[in-house]
Amino acid sequence: MNYPEPDLDELYRDLILDHYRHPRNRGALQRRTTHVEGYNPLCGDEVELELLLGEDGIVEDIAFRGRGCSISQASSSMMTAAVKGHTKADALRLSRAFKRMMTNPEEEPAVDLGDLEAFEGVAKFPVRVKCATLAWHVLEEGLEQGAGEGRVEVT
Ligand code: ZN
Repeated sequence: MNYPEPDLDELYRDLILDHYRHPRNRGALQRRTTHVEGYNPLCGDEVELELLLGEDGIVEDIAFRGRGCSISQASSSMMTAAVKGHTKADALRLSRAFKRMMTNPEEEPAVDLGDLEAFEGVAKFPVRVKCATLAWHVLEEGLEQGAGEGRVEVT
């Protein structure tokens, strides 16, 4: 059972629903170095992430599968689009800035978050913040462990 959609600003809601209905980088990778699963027990959201990490620290490829509320799945889609082709360092910077926005929405983000700012309105619904940050927790786990398998639960 997933939470219903929160009442967000229309423009942001459209962007989130677009990623929910037409997810980017959804599926599996032919070649992967890293596989991490994440679970948000509060809402029942699941995200499974595959990464192909290059030796130079680049996220060469990324794909996700999952199920859950629109916020969790749209956030996964937007996260993959934001970090694909970027360095691990850049991806971690983006992740920290995104999570900071979700807990301190009145602050100016440390880096330009682009479309990811669509989730700022979710910060008004504290119970939903973990829906929005689940994909980023999974990404961080994958980047930190490098090659291998992992599992995270947001609590
Ligand atoms: Zn959720």
